[in-house]
Amino acid sequence: MALALVTGGSRGIGKATALQLGREGYTVVVNYRNNHAAAEAVVAEILSKGGRAFSQQADISNETQVEALFAALDKQEEPLSALVNNAGILFRQCTIEQLSARRISEVLATNVTGYFLCCREAVKRMSHRHGGQGGAIVNVSSAAARLGSAGEYLDYAASKGAVDTLTVGLSLEVAACGIRVNGVRPGFIYTDMHASGGEPGRVDRVSHSLPMQRGGHPQEVAEAIVWLLSEKASYVTGSIIDLAGGK
Ligand code: NAP
Repeated sequence: MALALVTGGSRGIGKATALQLGREGYTVVVNYRNNHAAAEAVVAEILSKGGRAFSQQADISNETQVEALFAALDKQEEPLSALVNNAGILFRQCTIEQLSARRISEVLATNVTGYFLCCREAVKRMSHRHGGQGGAIVNVSSAAARLGSAGEYLDYAASKGAVDTLTVGLSLEVAACGIRVNGVRPGFIYTDMHASGGEPGRVDRVSHSLPMQRGGHPQEVAEAIVWLLSEKASYVTGSIIDLAGGK
């Protein structure tokens, strides 16, 4: 039995990942920030298929709440062996002249600080150095980290660049402690994120410009995340898989 935490597991890519982990036999912790009903629906779907899951609210940008989230996991019988750092935010696209310090800080607080804090707490529990049994972490980045996003979502793209740096750097730091750290860089995926960034329908609008001429589906990202967490990827660390339809 294995315990897996998916941050932002209530919707989109996190939801697809939580459901897939449930099918693979993990006990899944579905973290969310606001939408309790969505998280409970994911839990119910896992339970209905004979899996094990529960939801746990926490804003990952808040250190106290992250500590409480991991303290709740400590009450489980199984130790934490998998972390998916997935929760992320995106605001309306704008130019650098329109960016405020407040908006940049908000994006970095969730997309970067939140990932660091969850990695820190996971390493404390998984590392051989602390008596843990090892584990695997997958950080969800974005193709924007690789391609840049000039005049669009520069704050978001920069936050994802930081996530890739975290993935590679942490993988080196904890490789000898039984922990593998990898990443995925999705491209345009059909989730609510583009609508919350002020651009509903964006995936369809850009799909013709992609080599594969279509957007991606959350399940297509979840498959790679679950593989990276699994023993099938036992010699993979510090790697980042692009899931972006060729671009
Ligand atoms: P989404 O549909 O907007 O879902 C976001 C999830 O994150 C929700 O479960 C939300 O919970 C949670 N969340 C947001 N801020 C949080 C916080 N501070 N603390 C805890 N949970 C928080 O997003 P998505 O499209 O699936 O994106 C998931 C990840 O993939 C993100 O890191 C995103 O940057 C990345 N990504 C997405 C795409 C894409 O095209 N969709 C492309 C590249 C990368 P609530 O519902 O409770 O708010």
